[in-house]
Amino acid sequence: MRHILVEIVCRNCNYHSHIKSHTLVNSQLEPELKERIVQGTMFRYQCPCCHTVIAFIHSFLYHDNEQKLLIGMDLKEQTITALKDQHPDSQLYLVKDPEQLREAVNITADYLRLDAITRLKKQLIKQDASIQKVIYHDYDRENQML
Ligand SMILES: [Zn+2]
Repeated sequence: MRHILVEIVCRNCNYHSHIKSHTLVNSQLEPELKERIVQGTMFRYQCPCCHTVIAFIHSFLYHDNEQKLLIGMDLKEQTITALKDQHPDSQLYLVKDPEQLREAVNITADYLRLDAITRLKKQLIKQDASIQKVIYHDYDRENQML
């Protein structure tokens, strides 16, 4: 519900544009924005001139009130401190980029614990040296499979 203006310069044709981008999404109130995070379209913009897809990043907070969960991306230290004060009963997770944000939202949307999945991912990587990266995709409830 809060926005910032992001200046975007196309690396292909040098076209300058300003776009309005969300800095805060509430998963219960704005399911359509949550969907955009999951689809990976939230931090992407198509140049109106040459149609190059441009990825961008800025400070962002995802708030799931129901699960008492905050997921922050690219937050300043003082913002993190303030959030912990404002939401003492919520869990705050920090992610580095839209890809991690997307995965974290996916995990919590399936009502799984982020810290447990993170541990599981680390274990999988430790167990097999040929695995470099593990990305959570979805949860097959019926077959109890991740
Ligand atoms: Zn362009």
